[in-house]
Amino acid sequence: MIRAGVVGSPAKHSLSPLIHTAWLRAARIDGQYGLYDIAEGGFADFLKQSIDQGLRGVNVTLPFKEQALNAADEASEIAKAAGAANLLIFEAGGIRAGNTDGEGLLFALASQAPHVKLLDRPVVLLGAGGAAKGAAAALARAGAAEIRIVNRTAARAEQLAVDLMMDFDADIRRCELEDALEGAGLLINAATAGLGGHDDRTLDLSLAPDDMVVMDMVYSPLVTPLLARARDRGLQIVDGLEMLIGQAIPSFEAFYGQLPPRDVDVRGLALAELGRRE
Ligand code: NAP
Repeated sequence: MIRAGVVGSPAKHSLSPLIHTAWLRAARIDGQYGLYDIAEGGFADFLKQSIDQGLRGVNVTLPFKEQALNAADEASEIAKAAGAANLLIFEAGGIRAGNTDGEGLLFALASQAPHVKLLDRPVVLLGAGGAAKGAAAALARAGAAEIRIVNRTAARAEQLAVDLMMDFDADIRRCELEDALEGAGLLINAATAGLGGHDDRTLDLSLAPDDMVVMDMVYSPLVTPLLARARDRGLQIVDGLEMLIGQAIPSFEAFYGQLPPRDVDVRGLALAELGRRE
């Protein structure tokens, strides 16, 4: 039996067990994917216990992604650039860290906004935490030339830009909300709440180019207030659930040694679960 799971504080709202368990059943893999909702100070002990109990690895969610990277003996380039890991694999020789959030982001864009202008138009990122950093790293690696970061704490946005400029060629800098939308091809909300410290309604989407795509990493509710306003404005929208599914695919492969079966409607299952929770 191959065992894996997701750890966070809290983790109880995670849809990852639903997604991975559906794939495991459909693929008839002798595996299990658990939910580990632990205390904020308990990450180091959790890792030790998981390794002792023979887990193959874990997905890591808030607030442990940075601790996860620091706990690893080896890390992928993208995890290092993001400064955070959402995937730990326990090997005989030590802990290997990865970050599949960026892949999830690109998967969501490819599936819900395949015509998004990433390369020749600015990307606006709201937030400067782990998710924003991972997103910026993935976008820069995918060839985005200009990334504008808007965050409640300006210093954190500045620092993120400085860190990423060392790794990537892209023009990455902090931006004021008022100036952010000009010419933008994509807007991504990677802040936990609000829009970089500004009230949601202060982001005037009427200033956005007509072909700008709006994505929200938050997936509960699926259509966030930002996405609802973007849709009303006639803009293409991309939701955080598609990103969650996109980050789960390479995670599943890392745990269970094969890609998940394609014929399982995990999005439908997740939507039904979100509907039950609302
Ligand atoms: P984080 O490291 O804690 O960063 C939180 C960010 O949100 C910071 O930029 C913070 O600004 C901002 N923020 C928090 N409260 C705010 C408020 N009241 N007003 C304005 N800004 C506020 O969290 P994270 O790991 O980056 O995650 C961010 C979000 O992305 C979470 O909702 C997470 O669930 C989501 N996410 C989704 C997926 C997916 O697969 N769909 C994957 C990863 C993350 P300051 O710097 O000013 O504190």
